[in-house]
Amino acid sequence: MPPWQIGVFASVDAGLGVHLDVAKDLGIPTVQVHSPHAGTRTQAAADKFLGQCRDAGITVTCVFGGFDGESYADIPTTARTVGLVPEATRAARAKEMKEISDFTKLLGCDTVGMHIGFVPTDRAGSSYKGLLEITRDLLDHVAKHGQKLHLETGQETADHLLEFIHDVDRSNLFINFDPANMILYGTGNPIEALQKVGHLVRSVHCKDAKWAAESLRGREWGSEVALGEGDVGMETYLKTLKAIGYQGPLTIEREIAHDRERQRRDIGTAAALLQRLRAQIL
Ligand code: MG
Repeated sequence: MPPWQIGVFASVDAGLGVHLDVAKDLGIPTVQVHSPHAGTRTQAAADKFLGQCRDAGITVTCVFGGFDGESYADIPTTARTVGLVPEATRAARAKEMKEISDFTKLLGCDTVGMHIGFVPTDRAGSSYKGLLEITRDLLDHVAKHGQKLHLETGQETADHLLEFIHDVDRSNLFINFDPANMILYGTGNPIEALQKVGHLVRSVHCKDAKWAAESLRGREWGSEVALGEGDVGMETYLKTLKAIGYQGPLTIEREIAHDRERQRRDIGTAAALLQRLRAQIL
C-alpha cells in the first residue's frame, strides 16, 4: 500500500464510526472498523462486509475492539469503565478481545486495536501486574493469527505508555497514535508525545481537539472539533509523522455519531485537508 493513504474510522454495526457508504461516496480507500457485536462476528458477516469493501475498493487496515458497559460520559467514568483495566470485567473482555481477533482474521486483516483503559500508575501494584499478564495472554493469541495489537493513546502519558509496553515485553504490541486524545484527556502535548513514542506507532488517527481550561485539564474533557480547527496543528502533526518515518494510513476519526450529516461533511473536509497537506509534505 502506498504511504499515507487516507482512511476513515467506520463501523460494521456498532460504535461511533461512519457507515461504509460514507467512505465509498468520498472515495476514501482505507478504513479502520469498530468490531461488530458478538452475533455479527460470523464468517457470513465477514464475507458480506468484505464483499462491500471490495466493491468500493476499500481495504480494512485495523479492527478496533469495544465492549458493552464502556462509557465516555466524562473522564472519571471513562477511567472506571473502559478497556481491560477495570478488574470486574477484565477476564470477560480479554476473552471477547480474542474473539474479535478471530473475527479480524476472517476479515483478512493483520491488526487489532483497542483502548486498554487507564493503565494504573503503580508498576508494583497487583492491578498493574494483572493487566500485564492478561495483555501478554491476549498478545499470544493475537500472534497465532499473525496479528499485531495497537493501543490507542490518550488515557496515559506517553512516558507511562512506553513503560507499560516495555513491561508487557511482547513483539506484536504497538501504538495507534491519536493526537486529539492527548488534548481531550489532558495527558500531554501531542507532538512531543508523538516524538517520544514514534518508533512504536503503526497506525494513527487524524482527529482534532481543543484543550480544556488549564485548571480543568485531566479532569474534564477538552472538546473534539473538525480537523484543522483544533489545537493539534495538522501541518506540524504530518511533518512529525514524516520525521518519525511513518508510512501507514491517515485514518480520519470524527466522533459525532449523533449528527450523521455533519459527520459526513466534516470527514469530506478532513480528507481534502489531508490530501493537500500530503501533497505538500510527503
Ligand atoms: Mg482515536
